[in-house]
Amino acid sequence: MRKIDPIRFRIATKDTAREINRRIVLNLVRTHQPISRADLARAMRVRRGAISLLVGDLLRDGLIYEGATGETVRGRKPTFLYIDSRGRTVIAVDIRASQTFLMPADLLGKPIGGVIGFPTVRDPKQLVATLAKRITALLDDHHGIEACEGIGVVVPGMVEQKTMRIMHAPTLGWRNVDLRDALAAASGLPVQIENSGRACALAQLWTMSAQSGAAGDLVFVSVSDGVGLGVIIQGELLRGRSNIAGEFGHTPLSLDGPRCSCGATGCWEAYVSNRATLARYFGRAAETGPVPADQKDFTVEDLIARARSGDSKAAAAIQATGRYLGLGLATVINGLDPARVFIGGEITAAWDLIEASVREALLERALTPAAASTEIVPVSAVEHPRLRGAAALVTAPAFAAPVVA
Ligand SMILES: [Zn+2]
Repeated sequence: MRKIDPIRFRIATKDTAREINRRIVLNLVRTHQPISRADLARAMRVRRGAISLLVGDLLRDGLIYEGATGETVRGRKPTFLYIDSRGRTVIAVDIRASQTFLMPADLLGKPIGGVIGFPTVRDPKQLVATLAKRITALLDDHHGIEACEGIGVVVPGMVEQKTMRIMHAPTLGWRNVDLRDALAAASGLPVQIENSGRACALAQLWTMSAQSGAAGDLVFVSVSDGVGLGVIIQGELLRGRSNIAGEFGHTPLSLDGPRCSCGATGCWEAYVSNRATLARYFGRAAETGPVPADQKDFTVEDLIARARSGDSKAAAAIQATGRYLGLGLATVINGLDPARVFIGGEITAAWDLIEASVREALLERALTPAAASTEIVPVSAVEHPRLRGAAALVTAPAFAAPVVA
């Protein structure tokens, strides 16, 4: 039940019903494609004629296209409908403290090329110049891309929704940084920016199949140089009054724990981020301290490989991360009670090693048996959840439900 705001309401016009039904058709094509008009009519329980009108609209606007003809036992052969992502692309950008990644994707968020990575330049002006140059080169080199619809950028920080200014990115040391206007000017393309955890949650929501309860409540925990969270409640991203809702990465596990990138001590992030896991293995006091030259190129993937080849110190460092992950997840689950929690990041490659530790710690702290049994789904780093999230920033709005009342 949602209350109607007596000040900022949106009245229904004679086009409202059609607009809602149009978006429903678009979403059904997206989740079921290829799909015929007859199947759409059955799914929506309306007459064929009504569907033909809506489909006609979407065909005219170039949002869907008619593809192959299907086989049928008798009668006219049905023509199948598809989302029209032919030759159209978006550029996904994942900015992390250590590295920045680029990937072209289609309008459904599917990668259409490899991932390019380079060390992150901390100076925002220089980073924009580097990004614009690389994006232009990528679009020039990539045959088959006729139109680029925009650039989606995920950042490890809190983003103001309207202006897309990065209010605070602790691991980058950024406060109040505007990348959107500068990157749009340098690339000539529209730019969308969002917090990485939120974008991951958004992409997860859009990629879930109809059967898995797409409109449900979910949390996405993105573990990388820091920890980002996205919270979806009843199909909508939770933002809060000033865009910091869901920053569980900075809730304390212990008041006198290791120093965190945000300046406080004992945050969940300071125990489970990649930097924290590596610091634990090398016996460094905190994740934020200087990294000795001979440890700079050592990654969580390297650590997992060592754990698998019998290095007991590596195994212990990973198990500790699993336990801390579970303890922090208990806070998230007790606070939000989501249907599912997704975890992304390099550490998921060790899921078979750490799952028991994660679940055991969650069981210790979860308030009810139902909370303790919350489904936790690892999302492999090879699926590029953060880049998919970046792509969704550009592609998802076309499919979103219109706001009325
Ligand atoms: Zn913190």
